[in-house]
Amino acid sequence: MNLEQVKSSLNISPAIRVGVLGFGGLGQAAAKVLAGKREMILVAAADQKGYAYAADGLNTKECIATYQSQGSVGYLEPVGNLTNHSIQDLIESAHPVDGYFLALPNLPNDFIPSVAKEFIKSGWRGVLVDAIKRTTAVEQLLAMKAELQAAGITYMTGCGATPGLLTAAAALAAQSYAEIHKVEITFGVGIANWEAYRATVREDIGHMPGYTVETARAMTDAEVEALLDKTNGVLTLTSMEHADDVMLEFAGICDRDRVTVGGVVDTRNPKKPLSTNVKVTGRTFEGKISTHTFTLGDETSMAANVCGPAFGYLKAGNQLYQRGMYGIFTAAEIMPHFVK
Ligand code: NAD
Repeated sequence: MNLEQVKSSLNISPAIRVGVLGFGGLGQAAAKVLAGKREMILVAAADQKGYAYAADGLNTKECIATYQSQGSVGYLEPVGNLTNHSIQDLIESAHPVDGYFLALPNLPNDFIPSVAKEFIKSGWRGVLVDAIKRTTAVEQLLAMKAELQAAGITYMTGCGATPGLLTAAAALAAQSYAEIHKVEITFGVGIANWEAYRATVREDIGHMPGYTVETARAMTDAEVEALLDKTNGVLTLTSMEHADDVMLEFAGICDRDRVTVGGVVDTRNPKKPLSTNVKVTGRTFEGKISTHTFTLGDETSMAANVCGPAFGYLKAGNQLYQRGMYGIFTAAEIMPHFVK
C-alpha cells in the first residue's frame, strides 16, 4: 500500500491542494493563513508576472519575500515561472490543484468572470472561491451556472467578509423572523498603507460619488494618493453596490432593496475606524419587531475576516465537489466549514 492508500483505508483525507491567484495584500495573507493549517496545503501562487508551483507545498515566507523584493513569485527558484499569462499558463501546466482562491482585483468588473471562463475552457475540474464584491459581478457569475455545472466546477462566490462572513451571518440571523425588513451592513477597515491593498482601495474609490469602476481602474497611483490626501486617508462609503443584496435575495431571505452596505476605510491607520457589524431587523411569528446584531471583534483585520471565510468555503465547496455537486453557490446558501 502506498501512503495515499494507507490514509484512505484509515479514513484520513489528504490535504486539499490550494492555489492562490493574485498575490497582493489578500493573496499574501491567504498564504500566511494556510501556513497554519494541516487540512490545506498551498501548492500554487500566481501574480500578474508569474507563478510558482510545488507539489509538496510552497514556502510561504520565501514566496512573500520574493514577491516583495522582486515583484513576482515567478522569480522564486527553482519553482517559479515568469509569464504575462500566469493564470492561463498555470492552468495549462496541468499541475494538480484541488481548489483556487481568486484573490484577484475585479478590475474591470468582468475580470473574475473572465477568469472563471478560462477555467471552464481549460477542462480543469475542482473548486473555485472568490471574495468578489459587486452585485453586477456576482450576477455575471450566477448566469454561468449551467456552464460551471457542465464543466465539473464547484464555484463558491462572494466568500470574503462582505460579501461573505457578514452575509452568512445575516442568513443565519434571519431564521428568528417570519419576515425580514432590513439588513444593514456597516464595515470599518483600517490598513496601515493603501499600497498593501491597491485593488481593494481602487475598487472602494469606484463606489464614491463621481467615480466608477472604470475611472477608479484608470487612476494612477499618484492620483489615488492625491485623492487620499484630500480625505486624510479616509474613504467614507454609503449605499454601495454590494453583492450581499443579490446573494440574500437569491437565497430567498429578502428582496435586494432591503439590504444596504456602507463603511469607512482608513488607509493610514491599522485601527478600525468603526466596528464592522450587520444588523438584521425583522418581525417574529408573534408580531414582534426586533434587530439581531453581529459585530466583529475590532482586533480582527480585513485579511483575517476575508481569508478565513474564503478557505472555510473552499473546504465546504470541496465536499460539495466530492459529492458531484457542481455549479455555483453563494456564501448565503452554504455554511463555511472550519479548516484545521
Ligand atoms: P492587490 O492589489 O493587493 O493585489 C492584486 C494581486 O493580483 C497582485 O499580486 C497582482 O499581481 C495580481 N494580479 C493582477 N492582475 C493579474 C492577472 N491578470 N493575473 C494574475 N495575477 C494578477 O489586491 P487586494 O487588495 O489584495 O484585493 C484582491 C481582491 O479582494 C479585490 O478584488 C478586492 O475587492 C477583494 N476584497 C474582497 C473583500 C470582501 O470582503 N469580499 C475585502 C477586501 C478585498
